[in-house]
Amino acid sequence: MDAVDFLVIGAGISGASAAYELAAVGSVCLIEAEAQPGYHSTGRSAALYTANFGSPLVRKINAAGYGFFFTPPDGFTDLPLVSPRGALTLAKPGQEAALAALVAQSSPDHPIVPLSRDAALAKAPLMRPERFTAAAYEVGVLDMDVDALHQAYLRGVKRRGGALQCSAPVTALRRDGDGWIVMAGGVAVRARVVINAAGAWGDAVGALAGAAPQGLVPKRRTAMTVDAPPGLAVESLPLVEYVGEGPYLKPEAGALMASLGDETPVAPQDVQPEELDIALTAEWLETHTQVSVKRAPRAWAGLRSFVSDGDPVAGFDPTVPGFFWLIGQGGYGIMMAPTLARITAALAAGQPMPADLAARGITVAALRPGRSG
Ligand SMILES: Cc1cc2nc3c(=O)[nH]c(=O)nc-3n(C[C@H](O)[C@H](O)[C@H](O)COP(=O)(O)OP(=O)(O)OC[C@H]3O[C@@H](n4cnc5c(N)ncnc54)[C@H](O)[C@@H]3O)c2cc1C
Repeated sequence: MDAVDFLVIGAGISGASAAYELAAVGSVCLIEAEAQPGYHSTGRSAALYTANFGSPLVRKINAAGYGFFFTPPDGFTDLPLVSPRGALTLAKPGQEAALAALVAQSSPDHPIVPLSRDAALAKAPLMRPERFTAAAYEVGVLDMDVDALHQAYLRGVKRRGGALQCSAPVTALRRDGDGWIVMAGGVAVRARVVINAAGAWGDAVGALAGAAPQGLVPKRRTAMTVDAPPGLAVESLPLVEYVGEGPYLKPEAGALMASLGDETPVAPQDVQPEELDIALTAEWLETHTQVSVKRAPRAWAGLRSFVSDGDPVAGFDPTVPGFFWLIGQGGYGIMMAPTLARITAALAAGQPMPADLAARGITVAALRPGRSG
């Protein structure tokens, strides 16, 4: 049995993108427990690129990956990966100072600018005017075509000579000489380096390797789609939310997608929506918009998994040789994927942080496993 250089566990966006970059520097095997690679978080996201979102480190990672979505490598995909969406943030009475702070903190490359109430209503006529006193607009928020991005990464892995094995849950990891023997779907695979990109199951996969947990907490977020009010030009609506509050809505395939922005800690699982969260989302829609939720909406839930400081983890385990963590992508894993994949390929191959990323202030230490205690 020949050993591959890199065995990647989990073929969501994190594992698929890392496998693509790793396949340029060594042999790769990408292993997925499910029959469908995007079955968990990757297939359940809101699919937005938002530059002014997340911690300073997350923003640097996203800024570094921005160009990839517009000009991916030659032959990567024929489909556009992003398209304009825009984001409208509203302030309720008393929230005006929080809105001004949001405007002040936006990046010069992706400004958020104040908007009059009339202009806000012109962009989002479904919002109830009596509910807000001020508004701001971020033109740079993009819709991402997550499926096109994910499939392009998976195709790219194969084109670069890598293998994808689905329906093959990893159940055991054993050190063997200077590498690993990995049991996946009942088959043994040898690898020099194992990359743990198992999403919400990151700590469970770490335990198989004898690594200390990173304190990963999967958090459930519920979403649903409802019919838009008759006559509304749905596709031109921006993302709409209230400053500092969880709930949001955006267009999705001719309908409206809405979420409470809930963050309920749960065990890793094939997570399903709770009736109460669906009811609360419907109530929010009916309170703040002209939407009337007449029939049972199509609802789903997904997991956003965080370590305690909220930043992603990418790096070799401090005590288990050849075991690389790529977890904790939280609510930004799609937009961070191009940059985290490049970082993973460099560090897992024993190289330093790529110079352009280091120049943006992205450090190995900030991503280091074990930093969150
Ligand atoms: C409602 C919602 C909205 C979101 N909105 C956005 C957004 O607008 N923009 C954004 O960038 N991000 C968003 N996110 C976050 C984003 O979806 C995640 O950060 C990202 O999908 C994480 O990808 P992943 O590959 O790490 O995890 P996953 O997609 O969950 O992939 C992990 C894979 O590992 C596999 N696996 C686990 N254990 C094993 C094992 N033992 N053996 C083999 N395989 C295994 C799983 O089956 C799974 O397929 C959102 C998330 C949710 C839930």
